[in-house]
Amino acid sequence: MKITPLMEQYLRIKERYKDSILLFRLGDFYEAFFEDAHTVSKVLNIVLTKRQDAPMAGIPHHALNTYLKKLVEAGYKVAICDQMEEPSKSKKLIRREVTRVVTPGSLVEDEFLTETNNYMTVFIFENGKYCAVFCDVSTGEVLVHENTDKQEVFDLMKAYSISEIICPKELVDDLRERFPGVYIEVIDDWYFSNPEEEVKKVYGVEDVHHFELSAVSLKALSALIKYVKYTMITENPNLKPPVLMSQKNFMLLDSATVENLSLVPGEKGKNLFDVLNHTETAMGARLLKKWILHPLVDRNRIEERLDIVERFKEDRIKLDRVRELLSNVRDLERIVARIEYNRAVPRDLVSLRETLRVLPKLNEEISTFVSLHKLVFPKDLLDLLERAIEDDPTGNPGEGKVIRRGFSRELDEYRDLLEHSEDKLKEFEEKERQRTGIQKLRVGYNQVFGYYIEVTKANLDKVPDDYERKQTLVNSERFVTPELKKFETKIMAAKEKVEELERELFKNVCEEVKRHKETLLNISDELAKIDALSTLAYDAILYGYTRPQFSENEMKIEGGRHPVVERFTRDFVENDVYMNEEKRFLVITGPNMSGKSTFIRQIGLIALMAQIGSFVPARRAVLPIFDRIFTRMGARDDLAGGRSTFLVEMNEMALILLKATKRSLVLLDEVGRGTSTQDGISIAWAISEELISRGCKVLFATHFTELTDLEKGFPQVQNKTILVKEEKDKVIFTHKVVNGVADKSYGIEVAKIAGIPDNVIKRALEIIEKNFKLNDGKRREKKKFNQQIPLFPV
Ligand code: ADP
Repeated sequence: MKITPLMEQYLRIKERYKDSILLFRLGDFYEAFFEDAHTVSKVLNIVLTKRQDAPMAGIPHHALNTYLKKLVEAGYKVAICDQMEEPSKSKKLIRREVTRVVTPGSLVEDEFLTETNNYMTVFIFENGKYCAVFCDVSTGEVLVHENTDKQEVFDLMKAYSISEIICPKELVDDLRERFPGVYIEVIDDWYFSNPEEEVKKVYGVEDVHHFELSAVSLKALSALIKYVKYTMITENPNLKPPVLMSQKNFMLLDSATVENLSLVPGEKGKNLFDVLNHTETAMGARLLKKWILHPLVDRNRIEERLDIVERFKEDRIKLDRVRELLSNVRDLERIVARIEYNRAVPRDLVSLRETLRVLPKLNEEISTFVSLHKLVFPKDLLDLLERAIEDDPTGNPGEGKVIRRGFSRELDEYRDLLEHSEDKLKEFEEKERQRTGIQKLRVGYNQVFGYYIEVTKANLDKVPDDYERKQTLVNSERFVTPELKKFETKIMAAKEKVEELERELFKNVCEEVKRHKETLLNISDELAKIDALSTLAYDAILYGYTRPQFSENEMKIEGGRHPVVERFTRDFVENDVYMNEEKRFLVITGPNMSGKSTFIRQIGLIALMAQIGSFVPARRAVLPIFDRIFTRMGARDDLAGGRSTFLVEMNEMALILLKATKRSLVLLDEVGRGTSTQDGISIAWAISEELISRGCKVLFATHFTELTDLEKGFPQVQNKTILVKEEKDKVIFTHKVVNGVADKSYGIEVAKIAGIPDNVIKRALEIIEKNFKLNDGKRREKKKFNQQIPLFPV
């Protein structure tokens, strides 16, 4: 194959992006060659062609994003190579450069993203410490978490549903196993060199100490910075200062708890976030989700949020006005990011303008809130946007429809020229018709040949001598004249001028926006906060929540409800709970489907909601501030990870026993079910003893009625059950929690409701009759703890 200069250019660039699919701009297409062409053709289902013997597959430039999305979703990394200069008439090779490396974690365009955050994570291990740095490139947010416990870091990565992991080679196998389906990028040692310098340069600081990062975190952060630079092809990545996620400030939630309490959208459908999320802005929605995943532990900060929520709740008119204003606010965080990366579209500036317009009115509304900051209002920037950008710009900068008339006299002059040229062309056409007597003569334009006069075959004999032939079609011929040529040159020059001027003006406006970056990001943070807090007030009104109070050790919930289940259940039954230093371990027995799980989950959710600063679903709630909420619930297996149901259960229990303190809330829904009854009860009993001595608050829902004997030996234990009424041969679950022990498990009744065939039910009743009935006719539910009952005595 002969290597043309173009191919040489391609190969030179490809050499540097070997691990990516290289999309190489050629005129109106992005082309892939060789191996890449085969892949692209297969994944995108497009035709494989050839160019000078090289396999080639091309996608139209205007459809790039659509195809890009498919490639990235299919797990490929894509390097986009653009033309860096306008194609000129001379045959000179155009300069081309890679302008972007696209991976699932480095997306900034709106069409690739949903309202939710899209995180990439650098994960490293050094000196016994695991460190994860999370970054949403589309918002610039950077979060750092460090831990000696690998699982806790993994839990956080899971809760954040990250889309990309960046790690050194030695960690990749472990991560692949833990995060199947997540895109993983392996990085080499270079990424970890000179970390301090890297961080200083990007944040423009002399000293990195005030970030309070350890050496490991600093290294991970600098790797992240280098990676963002590499994917976004920039020396100035748009990154906010790193925020440390430490247990000092936030309650750490393990992944089992995030899942068990259904806090955020995930595999299970209904969740707390969806119930609470009535935010008006994307920033507000992202913040609310973050609050749910990171409840506070500092009482002052919690009360501060609650105060604002209460103020909003008490002034319904103000609340509605604020929400109405917020509904005009656009995704400022992402607009700023796109402008920083020179990827803004005209629509972004319109959205920015709409957002800024809201600020003065919003400031008026919140002026009476002491703890809300007044929003800085960049009036000069808004004025510029009002003057510079069309109301509803269509097309790209350069097509003449983005910059408002009156903003630049020079641009307007060229635009006038172009607009008048239409009329001039009509005049010219009419003149030529008169001159030649050809009524059907037509003046037209096409991209390749430019302006032409078209004459049908029938009229060719009337064509004057000064007509110069340009192109022959089936039924007509096309000509030019010196006058038309002159006209064309003038129009082309004007067009080029409009293109150049408008691009430049658009760029200047973007540069001006960049100068306001700090201000805009502050505004964005404040807007998110106002949105999230006013939403919590709105929820409180909508759902009838009350403000929680806090106490040192007492937990008193009157008329508590499950915030999610109550939304999907008619006549939800309220329940009370009282726990303090003396009574802090509740054993809840009761039949299946009576509401045990709902009850213990609702206690966890009420506690969590209180600590994010939300009102809670209860008539009255007094709560301690918990350092952590632990849950062990349901039967889950992790077959991919090679762990059986019982092993998963015991893993979860081990974590709780390792970490729970006097200030923790522990919710247990069945422990020890995945093994023999004897083993199960023994383990459950021993775990209970340990948790009682630990001092934490525990709610333990169980089928092992044996555990209710704990009440006899430990004053801290109290037995609760769910009241069941029997009417004729029907059982009614009242869902009401009362003191006491379940006298029956109603397993057979529930089996019947579930549709187990009558003959099997009948047989089960016979077996009970024969083997388990006591003399008084009651079913022998409560076996003595140490008494062994053979299930099938002969
Ligand atoms: P268990 O854990 O005892 O098997 P669940 O807590 O799963 O029972 O509850 C079963 C169903 O009963 C729930 O899906 C819900 O529809 C209903 N339920 C539970 N608690 C209540 C309640 N307090 N009020 C009304 N319905 C409830």
